[in-house]
Amino acid sequence: MSAQEPISVSFPDGRETVPRDGETVIHVEEIHKVYSLGETQVHALRGVTLEIKRGEFVAIMGASGSGKSTFMNILGCLDKPASGRYLLEGIDVASLDKRQLAAIRNRKIGFVFQGFNLLARTTALENTELPTLYARMDRAERHRRALEALQMVGLAERTGHFPSQLSGGQQQRVAIARALVNRPSILLADEPTGNLDSRTSVELMEIFQSLNARGLTIILVTHEHDIAQFAKRSIVFRDGKIRRDEGVARRAVAGEVLKTMPVIE
Ligand code: ADP
Ligand code: MG
Repeated sequence: MSAQEPISVSFPDGRETVPRDGETVIHVEEIHKVYSLGETQVHALRGVTLEIKRGEFVAIMGASGSGKSTFMNILGCLDKPASGRYLLEGIDVASLDKRQLAAIRNRKIGFVFQGFNLLARTTALENTELPTLYARMDRAERHRRALEALQMVGLAERTGHFPSQLSGGQQQRVAIARALVNRPSILLADEPTGNLDSRTSVELMEIFQSLNARGLTIILVTHEHDIAQFAKRSIVFRDGKIRRDEGVARRAVAGEVLKTMPVIE
């Protein structure tokens, strides 16, 4: 992202749900997950209990292999726990069939990964539009939503660019726009800054902080302590369990931190 291009982050007026701070959006209780690899079993989660309220910005930290991605996949309804309970906005996820699960995931959750997973021969706009194909919407509405989402991440000027014509940070912003296009209430991001240099990472955190300020609940996995400082709450996993869970004492403001960082040309 270039310094002269201001980030404008705003939700469109037509939001379906007005976020109410303080309402519980995620409630997990004694979640266990076991992977079977032939004879051996990996106990990836060993009893995770946690509550996340609307409007929170949570950073999940912990060593590699501590269960962070496993936990995110369960939160994102991409995988199911072996045992335990998961209520997503009060709905018991275990009670849903495959179709209902896909619908709820599509409507409520946006997912951002470390690898941007963009389609190479497809423009920023078309990449952003993809998740709307599963929603009941006409072409014009799809287009409008995708433009809005790209605007939210400051990429309104790059809609016709292909991924190869965009920097890493810009590609990750397209991935975020794609995650936002169905107007989810929760954004799950698993090491989204893993492939980015430090300034670009902080620029991404500026977008996350703006989105969070507008009511989006964010859960971010990172192994970088500096990145976790942009969240409001930090949770540390170890060996499939929550080791620590506390508020971020001196929260960093990405916009301020950026002023102290050199711009790389
Ligand atoms: P993290 O994201 O914190 O690095 P993961 O959730 O990816 O940790 O992994 C937790 C544990 O589960 C690790 O021991 C990992 O090797 C194992 N694991 C993760 N995914 C699978 C899988 N699909 N099959 C088997 N084992 C897995
Ligand atoms: Mg991981």
